[in-house]
Amino acid sequence: MTEPSSITRAMRAGIGTDISAGAVIPPIHMSTTYTFADFNEPREHDYARAANPTRELLADAIVTLEGGAGGVVCASGMGAITTVLLALLTSGDSIAIPHDCYGGSWRLFHRLADKGHFTVHTVDFTDTEAACATVRELAPTVVWLETPSNPLLRITDLSLIIAAAKEVGARSVVDNTFLTPVLQRPIELGADIVVHSTTKYLNGHSDVIGGAVVAARAEDAEMCDFWAKTSGTMGTAFDSWLVLRGMRTLPVRMKAHEVGASAIANALQGHPQVHAVHYPGLPDHPGHEVAARQQSGFGGMVSFELAGEAQVRAFIDGLQCFSLAESLGGTESLISHSVTMTHASMSPAALAKAGLCDGLLRLSVGLEDPEDLIADLYAGLDRAAVA
Ligand SMILES: *Cc1c(COP(=O)(O)O)cnc(C)c1O
Repeated sequence: MTEPSSITRAMRAGIGTDISAGAVIPPIHMSTTYTFADFNEPREHDYARAANPTRELLADAIVTLEGGAGGVVCASGMGAITTVLLALLTSGDSIAIPHDCYGGSWRLFHRLADKGHFTVHTVDFTDTEAACATVRELAPTVVWLETPSNPLLRITDLSLIIAAAKEVGARSVVDNTFLTPVLQRPIELGADIVVHSTTKYLNGHSDVIGGAVVAARAEDAEMCDFWAKTSGTMGTAFDSWLVLRGMRTLPVRMKAHEVGASAIANALQGHPQVHAVHYPGLPDHPGHEVAARQQSGFGGMVSFELAGEAQVRAFIDGLQCFSLAESLGGTESLISHSVTMTHASMSPAALAKAGLCDGLLRLSVGLEDPEDLIADLYAGLDRAAVA
């Protein structure tokens, strides 16, 4: 038999490896400490902040899916991002970040810059030509990328920006939370490091806060592992076990999320109450061609615009199948109003510059029957029409 695919190998991570009882599903190792085999004879594990078998199993599964050389499981997506910053940046260095990156990342980069840890440059990476020129001119230490963006699902051409970064010796890091390695593999496109909030699709059940770092090269993976165990950003055994359980259904979930999202995007487009639909799978989406080339699917997130706040209120009040909540990637459908929720800390000027209006709603399309989801949204649009 030929070598099984990365998906098959990741789905079988740890299956049937338990030697104590022959359990098919690998057990959780909760112990914080491990015996020495004898005087001055440590075993492979000694203390669980440094290394834990359950956490290692999850790291292996994610590394396999991303096609990396190694990785580390962290306590949260922000913990993963912090670990990468500790590993890659020294004072005097600089980092180029997307002008519309995840709000938590934005805050971390800027507050650390305020304290003098490094310099931050914000760039619109979706304008490929201008962004490549800016990267060549700035020659930053790190280029941070996130695609599709939140909440407008704008697409960054990873290969071209990463190539420009390489020309000037910059390291490229991609936050791959929105698509997961099932739909996008940044290391194959040249990225040095991939980060995840496993809180979202990788766990997929909205019951764990977690994160992960995957590095293309073993020495970077070792450096991230060193900083995770040294700073304590690493994840717990119980959370790792839950995320590994969630990931066993990742490929089928991602397909089903996409079927629902694409049906919803098509149903919303052209509706008289809907002023715009943002979904990279729609042929008229500005990033459609790049997305079709660099992704193996368009994902489960859709955003769209109503006329304004009155319509949004009427639309939301009465939804049956969408919960009004932040976050994404779970089996349940969620709806969020960017301006008052995820992006509430942005000034009106910054919101306008980022193209976020009062009527903008973001959907994390869950695994419910797409027909029910569309009927629920249509009923909301009827309410919005008389608001
Ligand atoms: C949620 C999220 C994060 C932060 O992850 P936490 O697990 O909440 O710390 C980072 N990047 C993206 C794109 C996210 O959606």
